[in-house]
Amino acid sequence: MDFISNFGFNDKITSLASKAYEDCKPAFERIEETARYNNQKVLAAFIKNRISETHFNTTTGYGYDDKGRDAADALYKDIFGAEAAIVRHFMLSGTHALTVMLFGILRPGDTMLSVAGKPYDTLDSVIGLNDSKNGNLKEFGVKYEQVDLKDGRLDYEAIEQALLTKPKMAYLQRSRGYDTRPTITIAEIEKVAEIIKRVSPDTVFAIDNCYGEFTEKKEPTEVGADIMAGSLIKNPGGAMAQSGGYIAGREDLVELCSYRLTSPGLGGEIGASLGQNVNIIKGIYFAPTIVENALKTAVFTAAIYQRLGFDCSPTVDEYRSDIVQQIRFGTAQGLISFCQGIQACSPIDSYVAPEPWAMPGYNDEVIMAAGAFVGGSSIELSADGPLREPYAAFMQGGIIFDSACVAIVNTVKKLVEDGVISL
Ligand SMILES: *Cc1c(COP(=O)(O)O)cnc(C)c1O
Repeated sequence: MDFISNFGFNDKITSLASKAYEDCKPAFERIEETARYNNQKVLAAFIKNRISETHFNTTTGYGYDDKGRDAADALYKDIFGAEAAIVRHFMLSGTHALTVMLFGILRPGDTMLSVAGKPYDTLDSVIGLNDSKNGNLKEFGVKYEQVDLKDGRLDYEAIEQALLTKPKMAYLQRSRGYDTRPTITIAEIEKVAEIIKRVSPDTVFAIDNCYGEFTEKKEPTEVGADIMAGSLIKNPGGAMAQSGGYIAGREDLVELCSYRLTSPGLGGEIGASLGQNVNIIKGIYFAPTIVENALKTAVFTAAIYQRLGFDCSPTVDEYRSDIVQQIRFGTAQGLISFCQGIQACSPIDSYVAPEPWAMPGYNDEVIMAAGAFVGGSSIELSADGPLREPYAAFMQGGIIFDSACVAIVNTVKKLVEDGVISL
């Protein structure tokens, strides 16, 4: 690997990068094959839906008969092998899309059963797992139950047992999020779907698909999930979407969600696109290649840090079903230097240095590196972590591998400068 002199990498760092790059080759081949497949799948959906420049037009006001918005829904539906989809720039984040999915389907007295342990932190307030009185599911009489993971993996026997109570919804979070457990693969999701169909066929199988889209050849809705939701400033927005979320799955369920998103009776018929159709449609077109770049960035990071002796999860060769990479630094300074090294070689805000701060809702200080075109976008190269044991950095994104790997190599330079490691 060669680097221009601007970045000031010495021979030792360059040689480490070259060796790490060689370690990545088998994983890169698999990632490229998946991207090739997914790019074709996306192209076929564009041809089938006769996408044209008309769809880039926009509406204001009520937004009735917005052809571009309908086209985006049709593309997501076909690409995700679902009966229906709703994609909107005014689903404001992943948490919002998941909230719409949960409140759209669950009714008073129903039970939501999480089959893969406790969901992502931001859902605590949505489900009512903390003491907040904010209109959460619990206040509306929706019960919550959970099957914990066993040795970090799905506990199929316990899931089957819990399903005997016939809960309204079985909920599964695919990505590790900011947890240390492994990601749940499409094959594992398929196995859970089979158990549900056998034991409790009326249970709705709902998936948090954040960070998972296009990392494998199939999506959860293609292997038996009834509905799923995700964020457009992660994988499927292809770094083009300026904001948004999606819900895809069974037609009756997506319709229920559309009533919760806007208003009962109005559903998906209303909602002006305000110029966002082109970004959303272009974004899904780019998404498989953007995800390919993010996955390569994650693998390369694991390769470098495994060579430096740090504990990485997933490892270079491990099967991946999301774009998240965890590196355990063991010291606060390691985590801080890593995040600062990434920020310094980001395209936006390279001249600022992130510092740990007391972020609302977290018990420990958190440090975050984000030098992205879209605010808070984590399909663009980003890294963060709480300042507590094991001082792990969670890194994800990287829309151009060639640029992202400069940032990764720069973290090594920063760790050496700050005395965390010596080469
Ligand atoms: C990012 C993420 C969410 C929530 O997304 P926000 O856009 O931050 O609200 C939920 N679940 C998982 C697994 C995620 O990675």
